[in-house]
Amino acid sequence: MFWWRSAAVLFGLALFALFWAPLFGTTVALVVFVIELLALLAYHLRNLKRLAAWLTDPQLETIPESLGTWDESYTRLYRLVKVQGKNQRMLTAALERFVSAGEAMPEGVVVLDENDRIEWCNPKSMLHMGLDRKKDVGQHIAYLVRQPAFQGYLTAQDYSQPVVLRNLRGSETTLSVQLVPFDTTRKLLLSRDITQLERVQTVHRDFVANVSHELRTPLTVVGGFIETLLDLPDMDPSTRESQLNLMFEQTRRMQRLVDDLLTLSRLENGVEAREEKVNAAQLAKLLASEAGGLSQGRHEVSVSVESTAGLRGNYDELHSAFGNLVSNAVRYTPEGGELRIKWRVEDGCGVFAVEDTGIGIESQHIPRLTERFYRIDRGRSRATGGTGLGLAIVKHIAQRHQAKLEVKSELGHGSCFSIRFPANRMLEPAELAESTK
Ligand code: ADP
Repeated sequence: MFWWRSAAVLFGLALFALFWAPLFGTTVALVVFVIELLALLAYHLRNLKRLAAWLTDPQLETIPESLGTWDESYTRLYRLVKVQGKNQRMLTAALERFVSAGEAMPEGVVVLDENDRIEWCNPKSMLHMGLDRKKDVGQHIAYLVRQPAFQGYLTAQDYSQPVVLRNLRGSETTLSVQLVPFDTTRKLLLSRDITQLERVQTVHRDFVANVSHELRTPLTVVGGFIETLLDLPDMDPSTRESQLNLMFEQTRRMQRLVDDLLTLSRLENGVEAREEKVNAAQLAKLLASEAGGLSQGRHEVSVSVESTAGLRGNYDELHSAFGNLVSNAVRYTPEGGELRIKWRVEDGCGVFAVEDTGIGIESQHIPRLTERFYRIDRGRSRATGGTGLGLAIVKHIAQRHQAKLEVKSELGHGSCFSIRFPANRMLEPAELAESTK
């Protein structure tokens, strides 16, 4: 097409020049033809110049317009640039989507070039490793993450497993970091915050160690006595009886521990408890009489019920939580001390409190009292039949009722343990009418 069109133009020009030959002779016709060719050349050169100028800043809107073969070329160019523009817009949109996905990742992502220099990093990685996107792009990663464990990992070139980095830049965070090679020379550096996971694992390990320890002591005692009984079948009856009593005591201790462990596990498993209308005033009085039973007259027990409002909650759980507080008050109050069990309403919230004039607690222990097996005086706790799980159970039950455990204590003077229930758990006395508990 191009050649046909060019030939047609040349043929037209030659025809026009020939038109002058009969009038002014062949020389004039030749001169006319040369002038025509020069004009054609000038036209092409002008279009070449326009094309060169356009190519320095190729915009769709500024594509030149022309005639003939140039018009056809410009039209093709227009279509090409249009398609390319569309493709580029699609590519940019896809890239932007990938970048925003990378930015939103809950894990840290750093793209490293073939020399382990930072090409790009997402906000999480900046948080994890203290990177600065503006300053650190182009920096070598080993220069910024200076922990020997990471340096060793980077040089060992075995990236099949992640490496754990602790106390990075003096923080308490623990990171699991892994390099993932891609694109033949580049690498992705992925970082994950495993602080919480490690904490849970430590708590779990400590828990198993504590349970084993708590069970081993009574089991050793019972085992020892059984061995003695087997070895000495003619033991005198009074020694035999005292040993059997001690064995019974130790089995009771194991029984209490297993019971508390089962209660705790049931509470932690989050099994929904039945919601009931609980007559808190009546429960407080019942606990006061139970305290009397536990104390066996060694303490002065009183009950103060300032409100007849009830509670929406699980009766057995509440009884168990309040019972633990009462039992602690009895166990940690020396003979002659006083125990007060209180039920009142404060600013719309129900407060169940157990006050004692016992040994009290130093303030630094208070935040840790609800940890499983946390005891201030291990010997005293065991001697009084404690499992070290009572307050952990109380805390769980309080949480299940959206209530808060509050502890006030003074060493040598006594303690006050209260559970504060939110207003939406409170029941008017009239609502308790149909209650059975
Ligand atoms: P334990 O079975 O050892 O009593 P708890 O979880 O019930 O376990 O209590 C944890 C620790 O809190 C106890 O070992 C004790 O040191 C302290 N404690 C709890 N209640 C009182 C209290 N009323 N007075 C003094 N110390 C208490």
